[in-house]
Amino acid sequence: MSKALHIELRLAQRMSRLGTETAFEVLAKARALEAKGRDIVHLEIGEPDFDTPANIVDAAVDALHHGFTHYGPSAGLPDLRKAIADEVAASRHTSVSPDEVVVVPGGKPIIFFTLMALVQEGDEVIYPNPGFPIYESMIELLGAKAVPIQLREDREFRLDTKELKSLINERTKLIILNSPQNPTGGVMTKQDIEEIAAILADTDVMVLSDEIYSRLIFEGEHYSLFSYDDLRDRIILLDGFSKTYAMTGWRMGYGVMRVDLAQQIARLMTNSNSCTASFTQKAGIEAICGPQASVKVMNDEFRKRRDYFAERINRIKGFSCLVPKGAFYMFPNITATGWKSKPLADALLDEAGVAALSGTSFGAFGEGYLRFSIANSLENIRKALDRVEEWAGKNVK
Ligand code: PLP
Repeated sequence: MSKALHIELRLAQRMSRLGTETAFEVLAKARALEAKGRDIVHLEIGEPDFDTPANIVDAAVDALHHGFTHYGPSAGLPDLRKAIADEVAASRHTSVSPDEVVVVPGGKPIIFFTLMALVQEGDEVIYPNPGFPIYESMIELLGAKAVPIQLREDREFRLDTKELKSLINERTKLIILNSPQNPTGGVMTKQDIEEIAAILADTDVMVLSDEIYSRLIFEGEHYSLFSYDDLRDRIILLDGFSKTYAMTGWRMGYGVMRVDLAQQIARLMTNSNSCTASFTQKAGIEAICGPQASVKVMNDEFRKRRDYFAERINRIKGFSCLVPKGAFYMFPNITATGWKSKPLADALLDEAGVAALSGTSFGAFGEGYLRFSIANSLENIRKALDRVEEWAGKNVK
């Protein structure tokens, strides 16, 4: 063995503050069990099980044949930025200029870049908990203070706006909102958004509004702070293609924000990725401007799975589950099982062959819950619930 391999790895201190997304770890553990011959039902990872619609795939292939294989502008191809601006303007009932749009490889980089651009040591960032784990991870990486706002089941996992107000102080730099929400499926109402807008009016706090599940709504409508023109200079809208068009592996998302900030995010793109893949962006134009029927087909299927899952899980001893209004996750309360979340998730994987995530993967306030992704076929969801039911019959008193 070469001597060089014995040199101690001296990581930058900040790496000790970096968290992770447990879904990828549980997926790896589940795959290792499969490699040993176990049959596992995968309800851990949040990605649509549908194929990307054929018209979008065709557009990418066509773009490859037409030379979209080179670098493009860091902020995205002008015609995609225009398509996104028009789509966001229509869906959020406002006007948007293409200069306000930055295309990046997935929704996640908007979280990364926004925090990099705005947040520094000493700042506070309010974020939903339980919530997408990357928020807390990134806030801490940057040495800022992560201030959780608890999402409670008795409010259908919508944040309490009075509590939000009480958490804001002169150090608060940014608030992260997410609706429809991962992992709870909670959806903010028009009134919630109005109340938040009123709170913000008296402050200079910025908001990262993560709306990656904006098209995955089962009841009611999607409401966004982005519709409030008076607040536009504070709002960074995050949306993308991964969930809406089953394009998780394509890596394409976007942020919409004031032009001066968009230019800074584009600088971060120049310094990191250079640009989002050009042929992928051409497919993005087709996704937005082409037929939208596939979005409805997927939503209808997710709704069927949601209804089935809720009906079944609520009959299993120790489990109780709200019916989520958006996204594609179920977040049952498991306190009546007498188990803590992490040991329960581990036991279901090891003993029942069902991969789910502990609520604590989404922050401390996720204790008492599990997250099941329903981005799997009804047949597999049925199989998983049969197994959970059988397991609970033996292990829950
Ligand atoms: N935001 C939330 C709330 C998510 O759940 C996810 C993915 O699971 C993302 C952002 C990241 O999406 P992408 O895969 O496009 O980076």
